Amino acid sequence: MAVRFFNTLSRSVEEFAPADRQSVGMYCCGPTVHDFAHIGNFRTFVFADLVRRFLEFRGFAVRHVMNITDVEDKIIRRVREAGTTLREFTGKYEAAFLDDLRMLGCQPAHHTPRATEYIAEMVDLIAQLIARGIAYQAADGSVYFSIEKYRGCGCKYGQLVNLNFDEMRVGERVACDEYEKESLADFALWKARAPEDGEVFWPSPWGEGRPGWHIECSAMSMKLLGPSFDLHLGGEDLAFPHHEDEIAQSEGATGQPFVRHWMHGAHLLVEGKKMSKSLGNFFTLRDLLAKGFTGREIRYLLLTAHYRDSFNFTLDGLAGARTALARIDECLAKLREVSGVSSAQPDAVVLEKFATALDDDLNVSAAWAVVFDWVRDLNRALAANALSPAQAAAALLAWQRMDSMVAIGAKPESEVPSELLALLQERDAVRKAKDFKRSDAIRDELKAKGWTIEDTPKGAKLKKL
Ligand code: AMP
Ligand code: ZN
Repeated sequence: MAVRFFNTLSRSVEEFAPADRQSVGMYCCGPTVHDFAHIGNFRTFVFADLVRRFLEFRGFAVRHVMNITDVEDKIIRRVREAGTTLREFTGKYEAAFLDDLRMLGCQPAHHTPRATEYIAEMVDLIAQLIARGIAYQAADGSVYFSIEKYRGCGCKYGQLVNLNFDEMRVGERVACDEYEKESLADFALWKARAPEDGEVFWPSPWGEGRPGWHIECSAMSMKLLGPSFDLHLGGEDLAFPHHEDEIAQSEGATGQPFVRHWMHGAHLLVEGKKMSKSLGNFFTLRDLLAKGFTGREIRYLLLTAHYRDSFNFTLDGLAGARTALARIDECLAKLREVSGVSSAQPDAVVLEKFATALDDDLNVSAAWAVVFDWVRDLNRALAANALSPAQAAAALLAWQRMDSMVAIGAKPESEVPSELLALLQERDAVRKAKDFKRSDAIRDELKAKGWTIEDTPKGAKLKKL
């Protein structure tokens, strides 16, 4: 079965059919590094990671680009407030962001371009738009994109969202990076240097200034993936104006279709509202780790909801994630005990069912249902001693392949302190000598230290209570 994803361009689920399966360009708008990212942001990046891992499982060779937005309105404001340099300020949050991504099991992108290192490409792109008559320098010194001229060339503005052009006042301009659909207006490509920008400016043919946010992604994505590429992702709030403007700038400059397939992830909510810095209702990854949750628990929770459904975040939900993972971990541990052989084919039935669920626009609910039904059946078979070592090995291998997509990994084997291992060995010896009194005393001592003994076909093991 073919891989099918919802495409925001066509508003429908379509086959994902890149021009060349062996070279799939995938661009995901990266973080604006003005603060620690919250787990709402990470919902989008974990979603992008699932898309990439799944495509790779299905045999596509993906070239993944995720930019770092290290210059835009919010950053400049914060740099000014902090009284520091742009690089020093953004470097700290960029490093934290990349650490957090690792904690959440996300594969690093093949390229992580910083906007400030692609200013020359942005200037080139703006010059092309001016040369084609689509951009103009206004009296304020800034360069703007003319929606009227763009539409006059037969191009469509409003490919990802429906816009009402009747309300548009031709030539009206918007200088800020983020704005609502209602303020449909020419947007800034190059912003003339203002006193409040401090030392954040670059030279350009239109005078000193800095790029607008939208042109950054057009320049970086086309430089690294070419003028037409396969897949562009981001959170749903980016569809307008950011992605619509990316399309307009790119197609306006090159005359070629920019991106074939657009995917947008729905928001993570808290009590029905978007998790966001401005509403103050957010958790960073660090907040949750400090509460004792792990990266894999958070990743699992973020992957339990379909990417196009908004999802309400709660700490209870995270506790539920812990329970669900424990079910999987326990089953895997038992499988490891039974499996004696190392090489086997994965259980193809469960693997195919799982991947087929994801083929259908990443239907994770169906995919997790496959996993938990499988765990239930395995537990039954294990309890009845009806699973052969080869079957257990095949199940473990199937899990490894499924986990290459969801990447929740396995619970790290808990390190048993050596003195407790010595007690366990002593228990083995005294049991052989039929000294059950001492054997019971050892069991109690271990229990008091927080460990329980599990007798398995491969001998006694210690498990944390
Ligand atoms: P930013 O750092 O603000 O540019 O956002 C980085 C990414 O996080 C973008 O793709 C946003 O669309 C996404 N994002 C922001 N808030 C949320 C949220 N509450 N839930 C899911 N994604 C979000
Ligand atoms: Zn972007």
